[in-house]
Amino acid sequence: MKAISAKKEKWFVEAAFPGIRRCKKDTFRVEKEIFSGRTKYQKIYIFESLGFGKMLALDGIIQFSQSDEFIYHEIIAHVPLMTHPDPQRLLVVGGGDGGVLREARKHPLKEMSLVDIDEEVVGIARQYLPFVSQGSFTDKRLTLAFQDGREFIKAHKNHFDIIVVDSTDPVGPGKALFQGDFYKSVHEALTEDGIAIFQLGPFLDFDIIIKGTVEKLSKLFTYLNPVRLPMPSYSCGCEYCFLMASKKVDPAKLALPVLKRRLQQRLGAKAADLKYYSPEMHLASLVTPKIWRLKKR
Ligand code: SAM
Repeated sequence: MKAISAKKEKWFVEAAFPGIRRCKKDTFRVEKEIFSGRTKYQKIYIFESLGFGKMLALDGIIQFSQSDEFIYHEIIAHVPLMTHPDPQRLLVVGGGDGGVLREARKHPLKEMSLVDIDEEVVGIARQYLPFVSQGSFTDKRLTLAFQDGREFIKAHKNHFDIIVVDSTDPVGPGKALFQGDFYKSVHEALTEDGIAIFQLGPFLDFDIIIKGTVEKLSKLFTYLNPVRLPMPSYSCGCEYCFLMASKKVDPAKLALPVLKRRLQQRLGAKAADLKYYSPEMHLASLVTPKIWRLKKR
């Protein structure tokens, strides 16, 4: 009998954090290693995968893939921005790959700020993954800060209309962005009709990550809405969840014609470039399965 010669394959095995994330490890076939290194804060690994394109992992956790990052970045940026009646100032906490900025800058904002703890992530992503930021870091409206988001935000009161928390998971440097004092500072940094959105976790991690965040945020904000999206490259395999917190505007009351009008007024021809976000998808992302329905609204 002839032996089958096994081709040498390299696989990336995602890290697991029992008790913080559900204990499941996804694997991706590595076609080519692009960058591997360690910064002061975290391990960075960039590779070309079979099927998902280029991927970024921080501390062993997949941050995005080239094939589906547009879903994540369009939803986390456009849903809060389109919910706000007139957003002028935006802050991104984390988001060092520049994907949130790429989407947010399509809006006629006056100011954009981004604070990431790790300057090296920004430099490495700009060098090896330029398709994510697409020149956003040179936008004249942008102020960049390299510092812990938890400290940065304390110096700002009643300033931002929108805050997007695009952090890593609650392990390593990202842990600070899941604490009660950080949520309080986010609330204080927002204007009176301000809206924040937090990247959270997979559908099945409701009890592990989402519930605790809801409990902390519901003490501060009037309206809390889970925002659903598919994320095929994440450990959930599909259903992923952000949490949108609003002081004054009830996201559930936004009607389709209002969103359609806003999209045309604010993005104009740029709206045609969106691949996932649409006013219909906006409303669909706010529809929650029964298990996710929050008591406080
Ligand atoms: N989409 C991603 C995900 O699923 O987790 C998040 C992407 S983004 C690359 C996460 C960024 O958060 C990283 O660049 C990391 O340096 C930054 N970060 C982590 N902890 C932070 C902190 N305490 N303050 C500011 N930025 C932080």
